[in-house]
Amino acid sequence: MPYFLQGSPFSFDGKVVWIDESRKTRIPISPKIRLELIAQAENICERCYNYFENKILEIHHIDGDPSNDDSENMMVVCANCHRELTN
Ligand SMILES: [Zn+2]
Repeated sequence: MPYFLQGSPFSFDGKVVWIDESRKTRIPISPKIRLELIAQAENICERCYNYFENKILEIHHIDGDPSNDDSENMMVVCANCHRELTN
């Protein structure tokens, strides 16, 4: 499974899973940014618009560059959509 769990105190009541398919490694992303993005998305995947109660959402970098933390480069997606986006 290409899942890399970010060990951090920021796994609130669910799991925030950070996946970077291109590098297959953990990429640090500001926990603050991630929290804000998921909060803004209100636990709704921005691609399929399904609601994910346990905040099991992921951050997808639209341009494929995980170091580009511009808010316009990131979208909050569910695991299924993230898999499709990165394949
Ligand atoms: Zn989705």
